[in-house]
Amino acid sequence: MSDRVLIAEDERKLAEILQDYLRGNGFETFIIENGSEVVPWVRENAPEMILLDLMLPGRDGMEICKEIRTFSALPIIMVTARVEEIDRLLGLELGADDYICKPFSPREVVARVKAVLRRVGNGPKVRSSRLSLDESRYRAVLDGRHLDLTAVEFKLLSFLAAHPGRIYSRGQLMDSIYADRRIVSDRTIDSHIKKLRKKIAAGSPDDEIIHSVYGVGYKFQEDGPA
Ligand code: CA
Repeated sequence: MSDRVLIAEDERKLAEILQDYLRGNGFETFIIENGSEVVPWVRENAPEMILLDLMLPGRDGMEICKEIRTFSALPIIMVTARVEEIDRLLGLELGADDYICKPFSPREVVARVKAVLRRVGNGPKVRSSRLSLDESRYRAVLDGRHLDLTAVEFKLLSFLAAHPGRIYSRGQLMDSIYADRRIVSDRTIDSHIKKLRKKIAAGSPDDEIIHSVYGVGYKFQEDGPA
């Protein structure tokens, strides 16, 4: 079965060009022009991917992205007409998987769609007896306790937990979250990790599972600091 991509875009011409390219690459596509129709459609049809325009009539892309993230981890690529907006969007941590700036080449969009689907499909599998992660709902449970994580925190935890004991640099962690690094700084990762550790520590204060390795990065390890 081919992957279904929802194109949420109110510029009809643009939507049709994307549709042609995606279909030419074996995807099944659907176009929705009104923002208020996106969430109900996604709930009903659960597509494999959404290309979500930021400025839509009815409801804006940010709101839509936030709401979808409350019930689904399906890949979302946000599309915006202004490059400056990408900084702001990244800062908001909407949980989108990638961002594309208009004007774009349809070929570039197809490449991004494939890259995101590949990344998500090859997502790391957690290897821990105490931690269970439900990727489809961004739900993390540690020692039976639900951790209320943001999309970014969830992705970091799931990436680290896939390779216990292995040390990852901040750059590697950034790559695990965003398709390209753009303006995300090292400190962004540090602040996400800090919040994540705090949430973990709220239930098991003396039992860290994410360790910082001075001058290098971070690792996941369950049996206390090595
Ligand atoms: Ca628009």
